[in-house]
Formats: sequence, C-alpha cells, structure tokens
Amino acid sequence: MENIFKVHRDMPRQGPGDNESTRRALDLTGLSGKSLKVLDIGCGPGMQTVELAKSIEGRITALDFHKKYLEELSGSAEREGIGERIETLEGSMFELEKYFKREEFDLIWSEGAIYIMGFERGLKDVKPFLKSGGYLAVTEITWLEDNPPKEIREFWDTNYPQMGTVKSNEDIAIENGYEVIDTFILPENSWWENYYNPLKERCEFFKREEPTNSDLMEFIKETELEMELFKKYSSSYNYVFYVMKKSN
Ligand code: SAM
Repeated sequence: MENIFKVHRDMPRQGPGDNESTRRALDLTGLSGKSLKVLDIGCGPGMQTVELAKSIEGRITALDFHKKYLEELSGSAEREGIGERIETLEGSMFELEKYFKREEFDLIWSEGAIYIMGFERGLKDVKPFLKSGGYLAVTEITWLEDNPPKEIREFWDTNYPQMGTVKSNEDIAIENGYEVIDTFILPENSWWENYYNPLKERCEFFKREEPTNSDLMEFIKETELEMELFKKYSSSYNYVFYVMKKSN
C-alpha cells in the first residue's frame, strides 16, 4: 500500500477514466441537470466527482479511505467553485451501513473501485442505499473476448481472478435486481491521458531518485509490466462502464 500511495501521489486519476465517459454514463441515466443525492465510492482524487457535480444539481458524498486523495478532491472542488456541494468522507466502502441510511441515494457512482469489493459483492452491498428506481454506474475491468491469449489471461488470473466478461457481469447485475440500462467500453486514451502517462513519469522519477529501494523498484517493475501488457493486449480487456437501475 505504501508504495502505491507513494508512486500514485499527485496523479489526476487513480485508474483509467475521462470526463467525457463520466458525462456519457450520466446522460444514460437521464439524470443530468437534476437535483440529486449522490454517493461516489472510492472517489480517489475525484476527477469524476467534480465532473458529476458540474453536471447535476444537488450534493455528492465522496467516500475514500485515503485522506490525501480527499484533500486533493476538496482542493479541486474549491477551485471549480462547487466545494459546498461535495462532502468528503474518510471511511471504508466495507462499512457503508455505518455512514448511510437505507434508500438514501438517487445515484451511486464508482469508477475503477468496485473491484475492491468484487463486482458481485459491490452490486449487492450498495443496493440497500439506493432509492427504489435509483441508478448505479460503475466501471469494471472486463474481458472483451472469451478466450484471451495465455500471457494476459495468466497475468489477470493472478491479479484479479474474478474479472468477468460484459455478458457475465450483465448477468450478475440482473440476478441481483438491477436493470442494465447500457454498457460501453472506455476509449483507449482514458488509460493513457490521465493515468498511465502520468504514472510512467512517476516511475521514471523514482527510478532516478531511489534506485536502491528494492521494494519500490519491484513495485515499479510490476507497474511497468501492467502498462506493457495493456499496450499489447488492449483488444482483449478494458474498463467497461455499466449503467444500471435498481429494479426491485
Ligand atoms: N475513482 C477514482 C478514479 O477513477 O480516479 C479512484 C480509483 S482507485 C483505482 C481506487 C480508490 O479506492 C482509491 O482512491 C483508494 O484509496 C480507494 N479505496 C481502496 N480501498 C478502499 C476502501 N476499503 N474503502 C474506501 N476506499 C477505498
């Protein structure tokens, strides 16, 4: 964890994503411009939280367990003049019942973070906090083909064995009482622009500054491998936006 926070510090995002995709997913809910109560789970530095706040009326609670990211989010929300509509909450996504009332939210959002609970558990755990007919929008890393090449299959089987296909994730959503409104694949530049390019620069920085820190160098090697594999196999997997509606 220490190395993640060290290398990932001061990056615009902590996972793939872009403002255009955030707006596209929000438009699919039909909630743009409406007065809403929203929860953003695993908000990180909150690029998507700010974009959401600019696209709706109402209030967003941004939950993350890393205080530094919440401070970064508060800073950008203030700069955008929407600070009073975003409340940051330092806490764990595994303890939602500690902070929230049942059926409190019109919309629950989570970009690049539902995997921490696991897609299925995440969908189950957040549902009680959605109003009836409320919407859930998440991005989840997803296989785009049934039989990906061995090298990339083995990499993700080690790092995230629960990774599903669009179809298997849609089935999970339906089994757990959601209607799937739509899904779309994130554009490839949403991996590079706000995430992998700044991450590459951070890796180069630490390779120059701390070459004898073996734990850190090991972490950087794994990070660089992940980026190389994405370059090679981006047609086999990607983040997919799942826009869902609580149906029962
Ligand atoms: N949504 C942000 C984005 O797209 O840039 C951040 C995504 S990042 C991959 C995952 C986020 O989840 C990190 O900010 C991390 O601090 C947060 N996180 C990890 N475990 C958590 C937990 N148990 N409770 C709350 N937040 C957690």
